[in-house]
Amino acid sequence: KQAQRAYNFNAGPSALPLAVLEKAQRELVDFQGTGMSVMELSHRSAAYEQVHNQAIASLKELMNIPEEYHVLFLQGGASTQFAMIPLNFLSQGKKAGYIMTGSWSEKALKEAKMVGDTYTVASTKETNYNRIPALDELVYEENTAYVHLTSNNTIFGTEWSEFPDTGDIPLIADMSSDILSYGFDVSKFALIYAGAQKNLGPSGVTVVILRPDMLERANTNNVPTMLRYDTHVKNNSLYNTPPTFGIYMLGLVLEWVKEQGGLAAIENMNKEKAALIYDVIDQSGGFYKGHAQKDSRSLMNITFRLASEDLEKQFLAEAKQAGFVGLNGHRSVGGCRASTYNAVPYESCKALSEFMIEFQRKNG
Ligand code: PLP
Repeated sequence: KQAQRAYNFNAGPSALPLAVLEKAQRELVDFQGTGMSVMELSHRSAAYEQVHNQAIASLKELMNIPEEYHVLFLQGGASTQFAMIPLNFLSQGKKAGYIMTGSWSEKALKEAKMVGDTYTVASTKETNYNRIPALDELVYEENTAYVHLTSNNTIFGTEWSEFPDTGDIPLIADMSSDILSYGFDVSKFALIYAGAQKNLGPSGVTVVILRPDMLERANTNNVPTMLRYDTHVKNNSLYNTPPTFGIYMLGLVLEWVKEQGGLAAIENMNKEKAALIYDVIDQSGGFYKGHAQKDSRSLMNITFRLASEDLEKQFLAEAKQAGFVGLNGHRSVGGCRASTYNAVPYESCKALSEFMIEFQRKNG
């Protein structure tokens, strides 16, 4: 019997692949003949270690991560990384540069300010973060400890299409909402981090991809043990009890991405899915208005407005009736947002595009 699945456009936590959930269900009470759930395994057991190390290997393979880079599974969400990054890498006499493209960049900068000196490399706040700055708008100051960017702006629906070259300055990216949705050159980055709850798995795991030379630059004085990257590197993310079930789920998601054909295939699917909805917006004659400028559009979060708040309310109410979940925009942008992460099926996007066309026909 086919499971009853919602048209889930939640921004996060968001849809997981049905095949992954079903596999986890089959293995839930007896993981590979152990007579235990993965949740019940010791994190020091061979059975768990295999799950842990396989997830690291799969991520390295899928993202083509250089061999020497460290892959860490931490807790505390991407929000804890906002603090850990400056605590480890922002030393006295240096400044951290932040590229401001939305609310998550603002939260990252706020944490860094508590630790040391910072500056804004570029910002698009003036136009309510409806675009990514052009590469020639980015100006770096002397003595920059690192430059931080948010690769996909979950709330505003914008995404970098080409990353800046920061030369010798370490480039750090919050990829929480678009990691694993396309292939790119990881070696451009000194550190990449992402909360798992969009493309990677359930919430509770935070993935960090770290270039090893960063450890040599890291502050070691007065940084608590759990907030130091070297603690987790030295212990293969097993210094304390890791979120074992989340890491197991992440491993299953990574296997699923491999089965889809890897990141190139996933990227193509994501482009096709997003196009279904962007095309309706573009062909609506202004009935639907996209928030993001076209060249900054996100493949993961599609933000749009209708002519009035009343019409938006009606749209969202009828969409809910028709079985669509999670289409409300974030309060800072208003309107509507469809999050089309990896696990959102083409059919859901097709159904939404048809619903949008029909809604316009009746109300346009
Ligand atoms: N950064 C981005 C781009 C996000 O979309 C989110 C959450 O939605 C966060 C950071 C915060 O992540 P967490 O809830 O894991 O702390």
